[in-house]
Amino acid sequence: MTTSPQTKYPQRLRNELRFRELTVLRVERVGQAFQRIVLGGEALEGFKSPGFDDHTKLFFPQPGSHFAPPTITDEGIVCAEGVRPQSRDYTPLYNAEKHELTYDFFIHDGGVASQWAMAAKVGDKLTIGGPRGSLVIPQDYAWQLYVCDESGMPALLRRFAALRELAQRPQVKAIVTVGDASYQDYLADCGFEIDWIVGHNAQAIADKLTALNVPQEDYFLWLTGEGAVVKSLLDGFVTDAIDPQLVRSQAYWHQK
Ligand SMILES: Cc1cc2nc3c(=O)[nH]c(=O)nc-3n(C[C@H](O)[C@H](O)[C@H](O)COP(=O)(O)OP(=O)(O)OC[C@H]3O[C@@H](n4cnc5c(N)ncnc54)[C@H](O)[C@@H]3O)c2cc1C
Repeated sequence: MTTSPQTKYPQRLRNELRFRELTVLRVERVGQAFQRIVLGGEALEGFKSPGFDDHTKLFFPQPGSHFAPPTITDEGIVCAEGVRPQSRDYTPLYNAEKHELTYDFFIHDGGVASQWAMAAKVGDKLTIGGPRGSLVIPQDYAWQLYVCDESGMPALLRRFAALRELAQRPQVKAIVTVGDASYQDYLADCGFEIDWIVGHNAQAIADKLTALNVPQEDYFLWLTGEGAVVKSLLDGFVTDAIDPQLVRSQAYWHQK
């Protein structure tokens, strides 16, 4: 592992934890596989999300019931009436100019979040919490690798929008696995070339990773997706030659 004194490391930030009840402003279909929900409201005031792969918690109460945002006390987070509905993690896509917060839900079978997104209508309420912490990953690593499936595509969309603005574009390798070729349309205008794998096949990702040469310095690796897949990729690909602080890996969901 090579670490020069100039090595840039990602920085962890702690954000003020706030819960916000927001209102659905628009519902849009984005490509074949994603349902986009755009939220707004006064409660968005002060929203910040400095990391491209930040996550917010979205709370899904039983249909027909209302969930008041929890309060934060010295004793911790307190839910009204003690009921904490099911929650899921989603990538915030925040537009400060428009003061809108967007979520892109990958639509899959089963799942409270996926079902909520399909049924959402203008005027519906959604309580969100966070992001509580952010990892701010420098944008200017000379060589960058991104591996994900559909669940990481919104974070990738956000990252690529930022990388497109750089005066000097880094060398970007992106390997994205999708259940169906039609899902590729979500990243059609992302501005970077993507190596697609159609059909979720961990071995196919591993083979592509093996063919890569990670440079000795000025690199960053981002690996997300289904938990067991991410673990197997880490075990097989991330050797001692790679600085663990320059690898971000995270399970975005678990096969049940
Ligand atoms: C940091 C972070 C950011 C994330 N951002 C996003 C995002 O912006 N957009 C997004 O769509 N997802 C995102 N995810 C993933 C999302 O939180 C999970 O997919 C979540 O489980 C979906 O909840 P659900 O209620 O729809 O399904 P669940 O109730 O959790 O699961 C129901 C069934 O669906 C399966 N399942 C769950 N997720 C998937 C999937 N992605 N593909 C195929 N099958 C699945 C489960 O194995 C289970 O069988 C993110 C996760 C993390 C950790």
